[in-house]
Amino acid sequence: MKKAFLIKYGEIALKGKNRFMFENILMDQIRHRIEGLGEFKVQKEQGRFFVEPHSDYDEDEVLAAIQEVFGIAYICPVVVIPRGEFDEIKTSVVDFVQEQYAEKNFTFKVEARRAVKSYPVTSMEICRDIGAHLLDTYPDLKVDVHHPQVRIWIEVRDRTYIYSKAIKGLGGMPVGSNGRAMLLLSGGIDSPVAGYMIAKRGVAIDAVYFHSHPYTSERAKEKVIDLARIISRKTGPIRLHIVPFTEIQLAIYEQCPHEQLTIIMRRVMMTIAEAHAKHLKALALVTGESIGQVASQTIHSLVATNAICTMPVFRPLIGFDKQEIIDISEKIDAYETSILPYEDCCTVFVAKHPVTKPKLEVIEKSEKHLENLDEMVKKAIEDTEVIKIKPGQ
Ligand code: ATP
Ligand code: MG
Repeated sequence: MKKAFLIKYGEIALKGKNRFMFENILMDQIRHRIEGLGEFKVQKEQGRFFVEPHSDYDEDEVLAAIQEVFGIAYICPVVVIPRGEFDEIKTSVVDFVQEQYAEKNFTFKVEARRAVKSYPVTSMEICRDIGAHLLDTYPDLKVDVHHPQVRIWIEVRDRTYIYSKAIKGLGGMPVGSNGRAMLLLSGGIDSPVAGYMIAKRGVAIDAVYFHSHPYTSERAKEKVIDLARIISRKTGPIRLHIVPFTEIQLAIYEQCPHEQLTIIMRRVMMTIAEAHAKHLKALALVTGESIGQVASQTIHSLVATNAICTMPVFRPLIGFDKQEIIDISEKIDAYETSILPYEDCCTVFVAKHPVTKPKLEVIEKSEKHLENLDEMVKKAIEDTEVIKIKPGQ
């Protein structure tokens, strides 16, 4: 029996006239994600997709890859047969149960859909007759129409599809359906989760990391590259910008009041991130900030940081507490990498008593004293290294 994957999408189904655009982007995302895992044909059929293998493939590997594509509600491994006579469908369902279930002692319900109304057997008849046939063949099966352990789906379309497992997808919208944003990616727990959450809404992501070599080590940089690679499995390719930040950090450290260090540093980060974002036609910034998590994330500090930004800044974790963020970090397999103990530029140049209620005028005044700030920013932008991160590398 020929196998394939039936893919049911989520929120796209709510779209109106331009639904086809979202569908096409989702199909492309699926194609990209399974590239290299075998030969496949991905096609649309009445509000769902089919991924049909045309070569050898590893079912678990392909399933895992499709499960990482945003925009999918469920993935069902299906058996595909020609539409066929009803007797042939009956036999195939018996074979399907034989192959899928070692122990044939579960409760079940047959669910049928007849998309081709000219097919001579109605959905009700399909359910009833196939249910009866299964009971005859496997006497330890039992029907339970309310809470079956197994639902056996039979869909009669151009061809007939049989399946009984629906594996949950990530939901959200396909990446590429909603513009591009620039993620400020540190080596911590929060920012990879923030990037994941914005990409889940269909936004393509690039990233910027501020590296203060030699105060932050090569290992710290490698860790950020690893994190970008981990989230890229779901967000798709990321152009990771590594900004040399030492000169600016030292200047801030030497010339500004220490309790304002972090706020001034964050404002310069935002400025540089915006410059790179504009260059890539990204329309917004993304950070992992959450109200009150640290001194630089009190509502007053966020206001002072935000004041320098001209682009919208998306902070998807703003109302999350740390444990909620950790739960997502674990779910997306970033946590183990995020907690590796390499220093971060914010932890190297940190004040003992940072302000928690910075005043914008005071901060701006301190920044005015910074010599050659504009030149240093320009140089950091020019000297930025760009690493292209592709999923699966
Ligand atoms: P994270 O866990 O993501 O490191 P955090 O809790 O350590 O966040 P901060 O260090 O205050 O918080 O940083 C807040 C946000 O600023 C981060 O989520 C990230 O978006 C950005 N950020 C901080 N440091 C860097 C850096 N070195 N490079 C790029 N972005 C950074
Ligand atoms: Mg951090």
